[in-house]
Amino acid sequence: MIAAQLLAYYFTELKDDQLKKIDKYLYSMRFSDETVRDIMTRFRREMQNGLGRDTNATATVKMLPTFVRSIPDGSEKGDFLALDLGGSNFRILRVKVTRDKKQPVQMESQVYETPDDIIHGSSTRLFDHVADCLGDFMEKQNIKDKNLPVGFTFSFPCAQTKLNEAVLVTWTKKFKVSGVEGMDVVKLLNKAIKKRGVSTGTNACYMEELRHMDLVEGDEGRMCINTEWGAFGDDGSLEDIRTEFDREIDRGSLNPGKQLFEKMASGMYMGELVRLILVKMAKESLLFEGRITPELLTKGTIETKHVSAIEKSKEGLKKCMEILTRLGVEPSDEDCLAVQHVCTIVSFRSANLVAATLGGILLRLKENRGGMRLRTTVGIDGSLYKMHPQYARRLHKTVRRLVPETDVRFLLSESGSAKGAAMVTAVAYRLSDQARQIQQTLAEFRLTKAQLLEVKKRMRTEIERGLKKESNEEATVKMLPTFVRSTPDGTENGDFLALDLGGTNFRVLLVKIRSGKRRTVEMHNKIYAIPIEVMQGTGEELFDHIVFCISDFLDYMGMKSARLPLGFTFSFPCHQTSLDAGRLVNWTKGFKATDCEGEDVVELLREGIKRKEEFELDVVAIVNDTVGTMMTCAYEEPTCEVGLIAGTGSNACYMEEMKNIESVEGNEGRMCVNMEWGAFGDNGCLDDIRTQYDRAVDENSLNEGKQRYEKMCSGMYLGEIVRNILIDLTRRGFLFRGQISETLKTRGIFETKFLSQIESDRLALLQVRAILQGLGLDSTCDDSIIVKEVCGSVSRRAAQICGAGMAAVVDKIRENRGLDHLDITVGVDGTLYKLHPHFSRIFHQTVKDLAPKCDVNFLLSEDGSGKGAALITAVGCRQREQEAQQH
Ligand code: ADP
Ligand code: MG
Repeated sequence: MIAAQLLAYYFTELKDDQLKKIDKYLYSMRFSDETVRDIMTRFRREMQNGLGRDTNATATVKMLPTFVRSIPDGSEKGDFLALDLGGSNFRILRVKVTRDKKQPVQMESQVYETPDDIIHGSSTRLFDHVADCLGDFMEKQNIKDKNLPVGFTFSFPCAQTKLNEAVLVTWTKKFKVSGVEGMDVVKLLNKAIKKRGVSTGTNACYMEELRHMDLVEGDEGRMCINTEWGAFGDDGSLEDIRTEFDREIDRGSLNPGKQLFEKMASGMYMGELVRLILVKMAKESLLFEGRITPELLTKGTIETKHVSAIEKSKEGLKKCMEILTRLGVEPSDEDCLAVQHVCTIVSFRSANLVAATLGGILLRLKENRGGMRLRTTVGIDGSLYKMHPQYARRLHKTVRRLVPETDVRFLLSESGSAKGAAMVTAVAYRLSDQARQIQQTLAEFRLTKAQLLEVKKRMRTEIERGLKKESNEEATVKMLPTFVRSTPDGTENGDFLALDLGGTNFRVLLVKIRSGKRRTVEMHNKIYAIPIEVMQGTGEELFDHIVFCISDFLDYMGMKSARLPLGFTFSFPCHQTSLDAGRLVNWTKGFKATDCEGEDVVELLREGIKRKEEFELDVVAIVNDTVGTMMTCAYEEPTCEVGLIAGTGSNACYMEEMKNIESVEGNEGRMCVNMEWGAFGDNGCLDDIRTQYDRAVDENSLNEGKQRYEKMCSGMYLGEIVRNILIDLTRRGFLFRGQISETLKTRGIFETKFLSQIESDRLALLQVRAILQGLGLDSTCDDSIIVKEVCGSVSRRAAQICGAGMAAVVDKIRENRGLDHLDITVGVDGTLYKLHPHFSRIFHQTVKDLAPKCDVNFLLSEDGSGKGAALITAVGCRQREQEAQQH
């Protein structure tokens, strides 16, 4: 018992001793943490150089763009061929990518010999060989007449300018084919394939990381960079860590002085490194009692797979014995132990080197994202990583130590780079096909000038129809007279109450207007909510609520006994027969109270006040918000004779000649006409430019079939149009990974203010993403780009068709006055116009383009619904006094 223990102890001692000796012998291959960190820092500098425009030319790490802008997301479909040239074998694969969850990727592959005389021969021979093999493969697969896309994994440094173009920079590894460097390999391949008469689809070429390491990012849609890190150190920056063995390998290679990092780290040279070390140790009698055999001296007799086998924990020593015995060196048990340790040091160094560079990339990614915690997946391929018993674990451990606070997932990219090629082909296909389909969808929102002119023309037609007595009945653009016959002249004076109903808020205002040299308008107001059940309840409830709010306001202002004149801004279409009488034509926007349509809303208000029996008011005018807006601006700027609302709804008014307004007696002077242009298109005249999304928004609205123009261009609906497009794009698999979330299904979730935010030029993509995230839409950066484009298309069209309508109006005014040129001001109100980053600019531009004979000035109205209503009331009071004097 004791003897056995002693023996074991002795053996352990001996083992430790032996290993320590080797550690010492190979100390320059054993990196401290500091050294690894130092290599990482150097690599980061090299990456920076490679990416810099001015430094790229001399950089060793080329950081070549691959033009692969996204990673496979699982929605790839199709049948592809993939060629894999540059690894140890030339392989051809057929990859079928389906949406089948159990077996998404099916592959069949064949390895073809690539004889040395081809590897060192001419370009033509190489590519003819590739084409021959492809032909053979297609014949065997029975796909000779199928036009399958071919992905080409060409694992050499290539400069890519497009996805399907790759100019070989230099051969590496064992290849040395003449006449290819500086040429586009995709072209060469295509030529050969054509010659061979093999039919193929479009080619796509992509570069993999050298040593088959694919760095794929978790969920970002950035361009994949092929770092070509194999050349790291070619400028001498790794000299201090290179050993005599590394130099010897380099000297004996086809490309001395090149790919120095690759030669230290890659599996391809690992066995050879071990062999060189063993030779030297044997020469110094540190191994095999100094025995050196011809086999040991032969290049290539120790391969990477041997290193893997030797390092296996259980059977490693036995394997080692077998391998060394085959080399004829008659190894002892201690020799085997020593050789195993040498292997460990060499492969550990490789893992450390790769960890340093990978760590460099990860740190860079992390910095790119502003230092946020990085979650990413690294896809790794390569037999060393796959087959070696310890390699992966060591690599992971070191990377995590180097880049803490990062959730790195390592994903074995199974079945090699050819699948990668097919995947990238698939991705490229998906992306270009997807981009085309998305563009096709959005193209419907891009109206040509001819189409916009057509919209203008049709608006003009509808204006005429609304003005004419015989056609007014069935006209969609009602052209309602407002009985406002003049704009303010500055003599208005007094205290007025104003109500503003029909916008986002219900407000009660007290407006004190003072005339004279220093005209002033002082306003006090209070905002009241109108609950949705009141908006859509009975008319009596609605007006009781309104009167209740007025009562509260009068108490608040201490003016309950004043019997003030009141202007009622009521932003819905009304048939007016006088300034203070207006029958509601129909509700729009979110309102739907019963027993109001067809009724005189001034009467409904007066009845409400009577029911309350608390105060009296003199309702002087019913005012549309467009008119209020025009009047407010006209108070400051006399040329203002048009009003526009681009807020929740869309509407306009302008001063029309009395003689053209057939429904009102008299031919003298002008009267403001409330166009109610939101209903433009309700007779189908815009159906050719309406999209399926406009129809969906319409179908889901309170007033189906009504206000079709408004539903294409006002704040209440733009977000809904966007949401409907997003749903469709998601359904078609172009967005949100094809997942239609509950959020996205929620009506109204996408408010128009989000369009403003998303379309802001100052916003980085990451912020767009944050906004979407805030909405509960889990998006990638690719998604964000698409969403932003969708928003832009929708708001642009809104501004343009709104501009086309305005162009029709100002041109009409110009013609009314028989002018070749008209200078006019439009008063504008509405949050869409005020806060959207592009709406107003595009709107102005469109008016200018479509009505070139008009110089249109735009003036922002400040509270047209309040101030404007008071001004109209004041003008109304003055008119009333004048009429009383006349009688
Ligand atoms: P209303 O037209 O109801 O009198 P506004 O002119 O303030 O009132 O318009 C409000 C509408 O403007 C909202 O219903 C919404 O559709 C839209 N909106 C709100 N915020 C923004 C924004 N930041 N950018 C663009 N549109 C907005
Ligand atoms: Mg408003």
